[in-house]
Amino acid sequence: MPTERTFSIIKPDATRRNLTGRINAKFEEAGLRIVAQKRARISQAQAEAFYGVHRERPFFGGLVSFMTSGPVVLQVLEGEDAIAANRRIMGATDPKKADAGTIRAEFAEDIEANSVHGSDSAENAATEIAFFFRPEEIVG
Ligand code: ATP
Ligand code: MG
Repeated sequence: MPTERTFSIIKPDATRRNLTGRINAKFEEAGLRIVAQKRARISQAQAEAFYGVHRERPFFGGLVSFMTSGPVVLQVLEGEDAIAANRRIMGATDPKKADAGTIRAEFAEDIEANSVHGSDSAENAATEIAFFFRPEEIVG
């Protein structure tokens, strides 16, 4: 399996409840390495651009205000098959449907405040990493 990099966000519901360390432990226990990480407030313009694919969806406005409601932790995770592996570690978007032991099953509040974002394809991972990190900020 190829070594890949994927982009991750620990969302405001999780930083508010001080869950950064417990979420990072899930990544590390599953074999992913955190090769870049910074805590930040994202702007409305950044949130709208980042989730631009969902612009026409009814939840878009709520999602943008949620993502700008508090600090987030922006991350690059590296490991074998990292993009799919991270999606498995995260669990389903709706925590009611997430498998036991996943981050969303354990920590998410609801389908919107669901604690983590993870890239869903190699192409999006590359775009999302470049959106938030300069190459020299990533230390593999
Ligand atoms: P993410 O892109 O954040 O990793 P995902 O790929 O599992 O999550 P998407 O369908 O891309 O899910 O939705 C992006 C985000 O929009 C979700 O993580 C969630 O925060 C929010 N969202 C998705 N569906 C809904 C919904 N029906 N109601 C409210 N918020 C939603
Ligand atoms: Mg998504």
